[in-house]
Amino acid sequence: LQALYDADNIFAKILRREIPVEIIYEDDYALAFPDIAPQAPIHVLIIPKGAYVSSADFGASASDAEIAGLARAITKVAENLGLSHSGYRLISNTGPDAGQEVPHYHVHLLAGAKLSAKLI
Ligand code: 5GP
Repeated sequence: LQALYDADNIFAKILRREIPVEIIYEDDYALAFPDIAPQAPIHVLIIPKGAYVSSADFGASASDAEIAGLARAITKVAENLGLSHSGYRLISNTGPDAGQEVPHYHVHLLAGAKLSAKLI
């Protein structure tokens, strides 16, 4: 089950700089910016620059370099935010049953407080 990538999704527009965001981190593989509706004191979205619908699409179709790049970017974001010791939660909603709203693969990074068992 693989949806086609919708180039008009909101994160594609953010990647094309058609919608401004506060850039928290950027490299060749990833972009990170604050979630517009934060669910924790720190709520950042980290997205690959490639056109992937979901984590399933990314895992199946992205190159090893893209996959490594995103993983390293996530860790750098957490380090840059000073979260290495306090910790953080990573969530990636994938598909309808998880309630994925934006069809561009994204990882939520939640931090800044003791998080409840179910936050998203
Ligand atoms: P999902 O439910 O797909 O896992 O998460 C989508 C997330 O994107 C939500 O937490 C939502 O608040 C966030 N979001 C939706 N539209 C925008 C936007 O235009 N800008 C930013 N920064 N975040 C957005």
